[in-house]
Amino acid sequence: MTVHHHPPDELLAAFAAGTIDLGQHVAIATHLVSCAKCRGAVRAMEHVGGAVLAALPPTAMSDGSFEALQRRLDEASGNSAAVRRRGRAFRDVPGLPDFLDSYPDSSWRWIAPKVHLRPIRLPEQSATRVFLLRSSPGTRMIEHTHTGFEMTCVLSGSFVHAGGWFGPGDFDFGDGAVDHDIRIDSAEDCICLVAMQGDLRLNGVIGRLLQPLIRM
Ligand SMILES: [Zn+2]
Repeated sequence: MTVHHHPPDELLAAFAAGTIDLGQHVAIATHLVSCAKCRGAVRAMEHVGGAVLAALPPTAMSDGSFEALQRRLDEASGNSAAVRRRGRAFRDVPGLPDFLDSYPDSSWRWIAPKVHLRPIRLPEQSATRVFLLRSSPGTRMIEHTHTGFEMTCVLSGSFVHAGGWFGPGDFDFGDGAVDHDIRIDSAEDCICLVAMQGDLRLNGVIGRLLQPLIRM
């Protein structure tokens, strides 16, 4: 798989430093599953961060912090009892990070002609919403703008917009200034993982009619 579009360096650095919320973490982790270049960059950043931490004087940890860390590691590695009970969520969608196995599964729902959405419910509060979006071949996404940012990871299929061609493994970062006019150009469905903050505003008459339907 050749990856052409990557997250900005600032986002990779924030991922490595653990300063982004869980929704954004899911999007970056999804990109890392298929991008060796960014995995290498994050590893190098974590190494630098680790060296800085090692040079700091030790501080006492609060009560229960070790147990909380162990719990999170268990969840991330799929070791917890809840994960073993539930089995693998999203097993029909390849290219997602393993830790999503432990999240509650959900089903596709119609949001617009030829477009289906499947929410990913995060186990903790996050200002960033995460969902899968499946669009049929030839779909022209309704022109839209967003008030916050939008991170898109292509899992299968492909799309084009003014910023170029995006295929499996590619990462698209859009902020409020971007006005997308997206066309699905693959012969099969295009499935993306999307992490989004703010509101999506659909433009035009049809967009305004559909607006109430895309609320999550
Ligand atoms: Zn990358």
